Amino acid sequence: MMSGHSRLRAVGMLTGAMVLTATACGSTTTATAPVDKPEVLAAFYPLQWVTEQVGGPDITVQSLTAAGVEPHDLELGAQQVADLEDATLTVYIKGVQPAVDEAVAADRSFDAATAVTTIPAGEHAEEEHAEEEHAAEEHAAEEEAGHEHEVSYDPHIWLDPSRFATVATKLGERLATADPAHAQGYKDRAAKTAASLTTLDQEFTKGLTACSTKTMITAHEAFGYLADRYQLKQVGITLDPETEPSPARIAEVAKLAKAEKVTTVFTEALVSPKVAEVLAAEAGAKTAVLDPLESKPSGDYLSAMRDNLQTLRTSLGCTP
Ligand SMILES: [Zn+2]
Repeated sequence: MMSGHSRLRAVGMLTGAMVLTATACGSTTTATAPVDKPEVLAAFYPLQWVTEQVGGPDITVQSLTAAGVEPHDLELGAQQVADLEDATLTVYIKGVQPAVDEAVAADRSFDAATAVTTIPAGEHAEEEHAEEEHAAEEHAAEEEAGHEHEVSYDPHIWLDPSRFATVATKLGERLATADPAHAQGYKDRAAKTAASLTTLDQEFTKGLTACSTKTMITAHEAFGYLADRYQLKQVGITLDPETEPSPARIAEVAKLAKAEKVTTVFTEALVSPKVAEVLAAEAGAKTAVLDPLESKPSGDYLSAMRDNLQTLRTSLGCTP
């Protein structure tokens, strides 16, 4: 984990140097470039989806994170840094991808986390950080370098459809400012997107009202907003996808799972199910895949969230 962060920092400094190169090249080419549709970069899948919905035919959208890639550890290539330099707007969430946080231009970016009320990073996260404080200087150096939990809030805001509806609305306003000629189109599509997310939110509220347990045990703590919005209790086995939990942590969560009548431990497509399987076996539970939508699902955001709702209803024993 620590070497991972050092590695990210090294790449961050490297991209810093590349930005300068890209600026030098960009200034000579953009002067003669024809005026085209705004090019918008989306940091990873859910942001790509909402940007496509709101931007419609008035923009081109490219995702910085390729399909099937875990976004937290994204490293930017030279081409992507150049793209960031040229893009009309970059849509991202500060705290998810350190490389993107460092490379975005402040005046041509939209940090979706600023559009909503955030919740603090998970309790378990705080515990782990507290333990790490004892690891002294090495950890202090790591803190200084900055890593994916450098923000105090939970960055997984897209997993609450009601907050994501607000993101759609604010993104519409931001695109309208960036491209005033098409302002009405952005605002209309933003309203339509927000409405479909509000419908989804209502389905979640209704579907998760009467359940035999409200405790969801997840592979990593991605579902804090879903838990916050629908009064569920999330217990993450690990803080992030890279961390291996200790046997003591597994035993602790297994005990809690039994006490709270948990029948299912949730795993993710991009994370090895091994830890969740060990835990499920210890707690006498089974496993099911819950998609944190950090990468493109087989359908789209809405269909994958409806699949998640169905999985949750079955696993938590919700009626009717
Ligand atoms: Zn995550």
